[in-house]
Amino acid sequence: MLYRILILLRKKVLLPEQVRALARLAHEQDKYEQITNDWQKVKDIAAEAKERMKSELDVADVLRLYCLIRCNALPVDQTSRNAPLGTAIDLGAAMLNHNCEPNIVIIFNSIRVEVRAINNLKAGEELLHCYRDIAYDCTFRNPRIAARYQFKCQCDRCIRESDRHYAGVSPDIEDPIMPILATQGDLFAIIEKAKLRALSLFNPFDVSPFLAEIDELTEEGYAGRRWPDDLEPLPIALKSLAALCERQGDIINTIKIRVKALAFAKYRNNLPYSEDLVDFVVSLRSFTMYPHRKVLLDGPLPKFKEFQDFCVGHMCALHALMARFYGEQGRVTRIVREIMHDEMDRYQGPRPPTRAFRRKFKASHETILKWAGVDVKSWIVELS
Ligand SMILES: [Zn+2]
Repeated sequence: MLYRILILLRKKVLLPEQVRALARLAHEQDKYEQITNDWQKVKDIAAEAKERMKSELDVADVLRLYCLIRCNALPVDQTSRNAPLGTAIDLGAAMLNHNCEPNIVIIFNSIRVEVRAINNLKAGEELLHCYRDIAYDCTFRNPRIAARYQFKCQCDRCIRESDRHYAGVSPDIEDPIMPILATQGDLFAIIEKAKLRALSLFNPFDVSPFLAEIDELTEEGYAGRRWPDDLEPLPIALKSLAALCERQGDIINTIKIRVKALAFAKYRNNLPYSEDLVDFVVSLRSFTMYPHRKVLLDGPLPKFKEFQDFCVGHMCALHALMARFYGEQGRVTRIVREIMHDEMDRYQGPRPPTRAFRRKFKASHETILKWAGVDVKSWIVELS
């Protein structure tokens, strides 16, 4: 992005007011210089960019621009894509402050940046955006926010999460954070190990040893206590295992493990969760579209009709979430709506969102959560 902005400046493509607005954004260069281990490398990047882009700016100005991009660029993300499209600086969105419990999401609706409320806002209430890693806990999220944006978040959520780590720890443990970080690392290592195993051509991928390893690790991995279900990277580890099962065509384990991962997810009003819901609905549909296909049964399954109620209900929930983020006529919402109608056309039960459907969905939802080994209260879906 640095190179691109230098070209735009050299070719005088940016409007004067855009250049002035860019210059007003925070660059936090002093703080970045203090915390980085290799400031010389950062200076070299700026010097090389000036040289290669034949910029008329001084190296010091290019360096400031680089720092400014680091702390103001947003990932251009869009639900239903697997990776960010890139990064962008939006002069309005760059002015929003951070909070780990945001009241807005920033979305890219085709080519427009849109800021959408996820709560009811009071007049005059500050718009707050979570800069990154919203699903993660403060021990993981805060070092990354500090490294990128040069501040330490101390919002209510950070304080609550930190308090939870210290509550009820055995007096023998001086600092619970180190063992918690160690378990985090071990959970990420299981994901990597499972990926390597799934890539192996010689043996069929069996997910059960990895699930057993996670169970064993989480038993006392929270500084001597049981690792909380909603604490990342446990839900992420389960999602990763589900994705590997899906690649192997193991649809039953894909759904079962994904139900567990989504039931464990804590923050459901955000884009990463909507991505997970898309993956979930895709795997559910790949099951409900082929009622007669042979599947390997792992214990008694819920009835096929219950999976259909479950799938239609979650399609409706996904559509409602997309409409909130992208608007009724947003491109992503329209795609989801089309698939939802297709699913509903094949569905024989009562029409959503009638009371009869909601009752049926609730019962099937509970059956499937129990089958996945999850407390039914951990994932309550209100359809409207
Ligand atoms: Zn915070």
